[in-house]
Amino acid sequence: MGKLDGKVAIITGAARGQGASHAKAFIEEGAKVAITDILVEEGQQLAEELGPNASFYEHDVRNFEQWESIVAEVENTFGPINILVNNAGIGYKKSILDMTEEEYRRIIDINQVSVFLGMKAVLPSMLKINNGSIVNISSIAGLLGSKDGSVAYDASKFAVRGMTKSIALEMAHTGIRVNSVHPGIIFTPMVMKDDEKPIESIEKLLPYVPMKRGASPEEVTKLVLFLASDDSSYSTGSEFVIDGGLTANRYG
Ligand code: NDP
Repeated sequence: MGKLDGKVAIITGAARGQGASHAKAFIEEGAKVAITDILVEEGQQLAEELGPNASFYEHDVRNFEQWESIVAEVENTFGPINILVNNAGIGYKKSILDMTEEEYRRIIDINQVSVFLGMKAVLPSMLKINNGSIVNISSIAGLLGSKDGSVAYDASKFAVRGMTKSIALEMAHTGIRVNSVHPGIIFTPMVMKDDEKPIESIEKLLPYVPMKRGASPEEVTKLVLFLASDDSSYSTGSEFVIDGGLTANRYG
């Protein structure tokens, strides 16, 4: 028996990286999974690889109309939605002195407003069955600041953590749970120069990780799977850190 037998999931930004890893594991555990992304070719290819329980939707997470039509299509194809993983996101680093308002708002739109839109679009479906788990992917950048030009990214990821708690409380009397995940350094295309090497800013950080390494997407998947499944039935409004000890060190 799979941990997600009979469940219907939407995972955003799932054509590659951590989202793709979550999609693979969710299918293996018995879920039907809607993979959404702006990367069409990679998304379609992944859905084909994963078989009939996967479907791909071209989706810009900033667009509420797209959210609504994807939710309707997924419901028609697979049934009401049990799981939403708000995973899509982009990194961006620039000093506040150089960052334009337009650049700031773009990061907030992609990383933060999208999570609001996703929850708003999916909650009515979950409320039909009074069942659901929403997993919002934040970051350790949603727990601590840094001086490396992260003003927009940090703001967006702190907001995801805050929204998670508010909606968890609003939904606590239903069967819907909402939690946030806070990864540290995860080796995905977002932080890699090529298949082998991380970008310089990440390479420089690695010695400060108490475990002295970054993680594979699959390590994050195990946590996301736990939160998506009924194994985490008493967890809501919580933040789950997965960072090799990076945020545990007050002298870090
Ligand atoms: P990836 O860049 O590999 O995956 C993110 C995916 O989201 C990409 O396919 C990306 O497409 C897509 N995406 C970007 N913008 C949009 C949009 N507007 N609509 C829909 N999809 C979009 O990175 P990760 O897998 O690492 O990132 C997953 C999540 O984890 C993100 O929220 C990220 O902030 C978070 N995270 C990552 C960490 C890391 O070290 N990797 C650490 C902490 C948190 P495209 O390539 O075209 O941008």
